[in-house]
This record gives sequence, structure tokens and C-alpha cells, in this order.
Amino acid sequence: MAHPKLLLCLSALALSCSGSDPASADRQPRVVCTTAMIGDLAREVAGDTASVTTLFGPDMDPHLFRPTRDDVKVLMGADLVLYNGLHLEGYLTEALERVGASGVEVVAVAEQVLLEDELISDGAAPDPHVWMDPSIWSRVPALIAGELTERRPDDATALSARATTMTARLTRADQRFEASFAELPRAHRVLLTAHDAFQYFGRRYDLEVRGIQGVSTTSEASLSHIEALVEIVVERQIPAVFFESTVSERSVKALVEGARALGQDLQIGGVLHADAPGSAETYEGMLASNVKTILGALSVGFADAEVTR
Ligand SMILES: [Zn+2]
Repeated sequence: MAHPKLLLCLSALALSCSGSDPASADRQPRVVCTTAMIGDLAREVAGDTASVTTLFGPDMDPHLFRPTRDDVKVLMGADLVLYNGLHLEGYLTEALERVGASGVEVVAVAEQVLLEDELISDGAAPDPHVWMDPSIWSRVPALIAGELTERRPDDATALSARATTMTARLTRADQRFEASFAELPRAHRVLLTAHDAFQYFGRRYDLEVRGIQGVSTTSEASLSHIEALVEIVVERQIPAVFFESTVSERSVKALVEGARALGQDLQIGGVLHADAPGSAETYEGMLASNVKTILGALSVGFADAEVTR
């Protein structure tokens, strides 16, 4: 006779397998997003027409995320999966391929909204941090509305209206940020961050960006790279470097110590939210928080530059 515990496991397995009921026209489509930068917009656009789940928690590093069996189950049960792409979700790629092969529609959002000449790449590796430029990310609501309209044609008008509202909000924020950064003197326009997540942001607002770690956090910064950055900090008298909520503080602290040993009083400018909203809670919140933190730290000795809120 089978052990009772085994029977329990088997019946749980049977239950989980029977979850793929045929989609009825009335049932809300299940949308699973990887990052909050996609999930927040999907939730806003979907309203009550779809159920939206975000896989990565608010403090999770997407470069290091490894899916559990439960995560794969959530993905398999979706009608639509929205992920970033451009190798952001490195360890999730295989699972996403399997989910796609099982018949679930899987859409790489960043790859879809980027125009060909907008992609930033570091040698061979594409830079996945596209959401950091809200003038590009403001195209995501229309993409989501299009995907949901295919599944809920009767809601086309409402979906399109919500997407338009969302896009307008992001565009207004982007213009405010642009005006604020325009006040910053040229010499202050160096953004030194824990990992290289701010290239799209820097291009949009005309800041020179240097990451201590590369475009992914899967490998640590080398000592020679930190030494090279220390030289730049001292030479250009860069006032601040920033922590990131999802990245280890170790390499940032090494840079600060290196610069101070050479007499440059490099300050910690605050915590930025690059790959997850963290305490800023939402995609829009993280953008606003980053702009405020960066302007606050880089405006040292230049009191006129303030964030227009
Ligand atoms: Zn990143």
C-alpha cells in the first residue's frame, strides 16, 4: 500500500495538472509579467479585463532570478507572458522557451518597443535596461493594450483609452525629468552607479554613465576596473556614487575607499532603484525617486537645480 504522504503528493499533482481549463470568452485572461516595470503598466492598462501577476518581487535582482517549480507552474498557467528580454532574465530563458513551446504566447516587451537604432549594447551583449528611458517605455502601454484586445475585443475602447492615459502620464514625467536635468552644469553630469543599468537613462538626459559592475550583476567588478574608476573620480572630482537596492554594496564601498585614500571625498549619493522598484514601490515611483536622488547628489554646490515634482 502506498504511503499516505505519497498519496497526498500524487493527488496534489493531479490537481495542478487539471488547471488548464479551456479559455472561455468570459474568463479574464491571465497575464504573467516578469518585472514590476512591465507588471505595473499591465495592471494599469488591463483594469478589470485581465488578472495580472508579477513574478519578481520588489527587491529581486532579475539578472540572478532562478525560477522554482511553482514559478514555472504560474508561467504555464498563463494566457500571456510579458517579459523584458535582451537577456535580462538570464536564468529564466529556458523556462520561457518551454512555456512558449507549450502554446502560451510569450512576448519580449523591451525587444518589441525598441526601434532598431535605439538598442544600446556593450560589445556583443545587448543592454536590457530599456525601462530607464521613459520616452521609450511609454510605448509599452499600447503594446499591452494590443495584446489584451486580441483576447478581449469587446474591451478594445477601454483598453486603448487606459493605455493612452498611461502613456501621457509617462511622457509628462519624462518631460519634467528632462527639464530638471537641463539645469545641471556639464561638469556635474557624471553618474557613477553600482552596475551598468543607467545607459538608456543617461542617453535620454545627457549624463555620462559609468557602472562599477557590467550590464549584468552575474559577475563582480574586477579590481583593475575599480582602480580605473578611482582614477576617473579623482581626476574629474566626481562628488557622488550611488548604491542600488538590488546590488551588493561591496564594490561601491571599495570605490569610495579607493577615492578617499587619494584625497577625493567621494560621497554615497543615495540608493537608486535600477532593476526593481524596491521601496519606491512602482515603476513610476522608482523613476521619480532616482531623478530626485541623482539631482540631489550631483547638484552639490549648485543649489538652483531642483526636481520639478
Ligand atoms: Zn541590471
